[in-house]
Amino acid sequence: MLVKPARWFTTLTALTAAALPLTVCLLASAESLKAADFFSPEEMQAAARYNNKLYTLFAFKEVTLLGFLALTAFSRLGAAYRRDVGKIFRSRQKLVLPAYAFFLVLMIRLAAVPFDAVRDLGVKKSFGLIVEGMGAWLADHAKSFFVADIWYVPFVVLVFVLMQRFKRSWWLLSAVVLGMASIAWYSLAPHLIEPLFFKITPVQSEALHSQLDPLLRQAGLDADVLHEADTGRKTREVNAYLSGLFLGKRIVLYNVLEKEAEPSELRFVVAHEVAHWRKNHVIKGIAFRTAGAAGVLLLVGVLLKLTTRKARSPDANVSGSESLPAFFFYLNVILFLVMPIECALSRHIERAADAYALELTQDPQGAARLFEKVARKNLSDLNPPPLARFWLHTHPPILERIEEALRRKERFNIGEDSERTTVPAKEKPSEARATNKTTTGDSVEEDENRSRGEVTHGKND
Ligand SMILES: [Zn+2]
Repeated sequence: MLVKPARWFTTLTALTAAALPLTVCLLASAESLKAADFFSPEEMQAAARYNNKLYTLFAFKEVTLLGFLALTAFSRLGAAYRRDVGKIFRSRQKLVLPAYAFFLVLMIRLAAVPFDAVRDLGVKKSFGLIVEGMGAWLADHAKSFFVADIWYVPFVVLVFVLMQRFKRSWWLLSAVVLGMASIAWYSLAPHLIEPLFFKITPVQSEALHSQLDPLLRQAGLDADVLHEADTGRKTREVNAYLSGLFLGKRIVLYNVLEKEAEPSELRFVVAHEVAHWRKNHVIKGIAFRTAGAAGVLLLVGVLLKLTTRKARSPDANVSGSESLPAFFFYLNVILFLVMPIECALSRHIERAADAYALELTQDPQGAARLFEKVARKNLSDLNPPPLARFWLHTHPPILERIEEALRRKERFNIGEDSERTTVPAKEKPSEARATNKTTTGDSVEEDENRSRGEVTHGKND
């Protein structure tokens, strides 16, 4: 039987959809810098082609994922799956909930694999951004399922157990557990998770240390926090990120950077990560997401109760394993709807980190050159559509970041006589490259189209 979601949920979704175009119009501020001042027509076309493909794939992936979950939640398919799982564990009924949760998490991941494969091995590879082969890619995907996605299973089981025991406060308790798990995840990631994907070692190069140590000292950090990851065997992307919490915190540079970036650009990369460190952005992010998770879970619980009772009986048990597909469906719909909030916060944090780094390095030209280089190598979207910017972008548009750096340059009053305040246009050779992330922490650069279909905690830029 097809169960209609609660009427007010439909109303809420409709209202959100109606408010969206308005918000997008309000956000569509006129760019004062033009991509053509910095990039050649070929570069702009390549970036547009590449990003349009990514947006399209993302949309298809979301529709497929939500479609699959809706079908499982509101048709007989879910019950059939559950019966099959139940048959396997006939004598141990307690195992049905975790086994069914595992099955659904696995299905969610499998539904995403074709889209991720086309994105990485099709699109990104054809644009020269990814260099690893299919075998290595599949191995990384499998690892990321067993290292990251798998945590959904105990978490969802815990949520359902808490739902049974604490009828009023289960959502709050679940969020607290999620917050603590996130702290553990971020603390352990540099030691247990990241080495599964990359070889990460302290930076040995004397040249790098001589360029970067003074900056670290200035910010009150030791030189040994600098690490590098051998990302070059998988991706051509240039990036860096802050890893860890509390003890063992470190700044990790993609090893491609050493060859690709000029000293002034490298200094800005590191200064940006220092900003995340000094301003405690990672722990603030965890606190924000934990608070958000409480709200999201509360809403999921309300929807679950409304639809389950309407579909079955007024006192139906909403925390039984038969509610799992609906739980995943509502969770994913709501996480999709709150993506703009998460992205807005992330952009705010990234702007703050850029501002801090500009103050620390006092070299806005180095920053502007870095952003240009990143845009070329990672094929950044030079003119992101307002909707994509609003919904998906975790970093401000690259032109906005260049513009902000140039504005600082005016403020610092640098090069009054000999240089104009614009970075010379079209003087740099075009090189295209980019990404395949499995890191934790906050990166200096690039947006990636976020996909929250899989695991929501711990895996981001
Ligand atoms: Zn950052």
